[in-house]
Amino acid sequence: MIDGSGSTARAADVGIAGDRIVLVGDGSKAQAARVIDARGLVVSPGFIDPHVHVLEDLSSAAKKSNEAYLFQGVTTVVTGNDGQGPIQTGATLAKWKQQGIGTNAAVYIGQGTVRREVMGMSDAAASSEQVAKMKALVARGVEEGAMGMSTGLYYAPGSYASTEEVIELAKAAAATGGIYDSHMRDEDTYSIGLLGSIRETIRIAREAKIPVHISHIKALGPEAWGKSTAAIELIRAARAEGLEVTADQYPYEASGSSVTASLIPRWAEAGGNGALLARIGDPSVRPKLVHEMEENLKRRGGADSLLIISGGDRSLIGKRLSEIAREKRVSPVEAALEIVKNGGAGVASFNMSETDIENFMREDWVMTGSDGSEGHPRKYGTFARKVRVYVNEKKIVSLVSAVHSSSGLTAQALHFADRGVLREGYFADVIAFDAAAIADLATYEHPDLPATGVKYVVVNGRLAIDGGKYTGALAGRALSRPPR
Ligand SMILES: [Zn+2]
Repeated sequence: MIDGSGSTARAADVGIAGDRIVLVGDGSKAQAARVIDARGLVVSPGFIDPHVHVLEDLSSAAKKSNEAYLFQGVTTVVTGNDGQGPIQTGATLAKWKQQGIGTNAAVYIGQGTVRREVMGMSDAAASSEQVAKMKALVARGVEEGAMGMSTGLYYAPGSYASTEEVIELAKAAAATGGIYDSHMRDEDTYSIGLLGSIRETIRIAREAKIPVHISHIKALGPEAWGKSTAAIELIRAARAEGLEVTADQYPYEASGSSVTASLIPRWAEAGGNGALLARIGDPSVRPKLVHEMEENLKRRGGADSLLIISGGDRSLIGKRLSEIAREKRVSPVEAALEIVKNGGAGVASFNMSETDIENFMREDWVMTGSDGSEGHPRKYGTFARKVRVYVNEKKIVSLVSAVHSSSGLTAQALHFADRGVLREGYFADVIAFDAAAIADLATYEHPDLPATGVKYVVVNGRLAIDGGKYTGALAGRALSRPPR
């Protein structure tokens, strides 16, 4: 048993009654309706994923079981990240409760959604009246149970907010007990840079007096490679100052994005999609747009580094942007503009260095988070891959540390006081997996293959995976923000 707290592995029984853990230790004299012989397996807390894109899945009849996550041993997910969480927190939680879900789930209210609600796709500075309206929406979301506020300051329209505007909204989230989760303004060299973004996030923590969590921490693109060391120093210093600063990370060298988000400059998106299409067609704007897109493509590592993984035009899926440009006999940026005009496409963007991934992973404030989205293998593979590649093959972190950074550490950052550790009285989110055989099967070619090696998954005391098979249970709960 690895209990998730960071303590070393030991032999122990885990007893469950109702939805709680009632025994951790010697269960030889206990009576039970069902006994699972987990010898040879690792028994640990169910994993907690602080960043997943499953709002639609959880609200749909076909995917509400969240099996992509159950098969990785994940029993709790948090969604609504990147500034995209819904305005209606209470209704979202109520829907999940009413229809049933396969894992526990919590949600953020999104700053991007809130800004769009109040200001549309305008890139203007918010007036004090608009700030007041946005603050009221954030406060209501957190009161209704949102974990806090997420931002996607890289994306439109979230990116149109100044730091000061974000701080005002973060204060509203803090006042009602929420935390701040951020896809930062820049993980590369697009605007304020990776280090500038970390400084901005730390400033938000300090001035809004709110715990901050950095989503999918990374040094994105060749110009940012190597900056993990300086980024880590900034965060360590902030933590030493007493600020709550944490981060999550997925163990892949490609990020998931879209052609639009990765290449189009944000000014071109101001006013929304119609305005973007008009600018693409405007001969007085197009040269500037093309030039900046060429720069952005360099930042991403060139046209070979963008692999189309989703979108309306199925014939493009599985092709690199370079290949599409060659086939169409146009430049990569012209090919990208065609894709944007035709409704856009999702990309896997191969832009991280292994050294930076490993540097971040070794930090004791970095937890596992999939950022799972359709078309990228991280949705089905993240937690299994971390053990297979970074524990078993490369030995970058220990198994105890991988479990801790996927459970107890995450529970602590999210302030879940009774999940994430195997302890008497805690909720019975418990898994058993084969530490040598656990593996991600999802690849960029076949991104939706479930992980293997997780034999048992218990969610709130009920078996969801039994002997490696999904039981059909919808034992997850809609989780409101825990008190802090
Ligand atoms: Zn993100």
